[in-house]
Amino acid sequence: MERTNCDCKICQVPCYTAPGYLVPTDLVTMMGETGYLGEPEATVDWCMTWARKFLLASKGPCVNAKWFLRHCHSDAIPYGVERFYLRIPILVPAIATVTDDEVGRMDVCVFADSPNQKDLICSIHQYSPYGCRMFDTHMTAGDSDKRAHRGIYAVREAWRKAFSDEDEQDEGDELTTEEGMYVSMWLGLSREGLIREESTSESRRMVQKSIDVYT
Ligand code: SF4
Repeated sequence: MERTNCDCKICQVPCYTAPGYLVPTDLVTMMGETGYLGEPEATVDWCMTWARKFLLASKGPCVNAKWFLRHCHSDAIPYGVERFYLRIPILVPAIATVTDDEVGRMDVCVFADSPNQKDLICSIHQYSPYGCRMFDTHMTAGDSDKRAHRGIYAVREAWRKAFSDEDEQDEGDELTTEEGMYVSMWLGLSREGLIREESTSESRRMVQKSIDVYT
């Protein structure tokens, strides 16, 4: 699946309302892009310093268990499973409040440069989070659904591995460093109250409301 590159005003709406979520493999590239990787002191504490500056913990989307299992190509979808939902906690970029000459104070993604309504630039465009680089507002619902599943599945795998006993894991199924960082950062930020208050569905509603202004 290829990334998207549209920077029209409608596709920039989430930068002001609900920045896209990260998957575990985003962490190292984003940290590198923001000058935080490769320092000798790159310890867990140091990674948390980076996370506090740039990220928030979100309780994440509530996904239907049947939808999720179907996308996992599971052979066995238990009867009645469609009544159940899974919450997948995600990391998202933090929001900064800035002042713009024309529109006054406004909230915008912490990674936005020149954050006025005319020329917002993503300072980490090449390494922007999965939830930003893989979606735009022009794609079909089917394409968006496939991409959403792939991203959410990657995050869910991090949580599954982090909370599985070793004897429940197959060979090669160990938690990767990035998956461990993802879960640790989410738990650390959440403990410190650095959270995105809106649920994912509330965020989607906010984005849609703002898009409606343009269309
Ligand atoms: S990371 Fe970049 S594309 Fe994503 S919300 Fe922030 S500024 Fe926008």
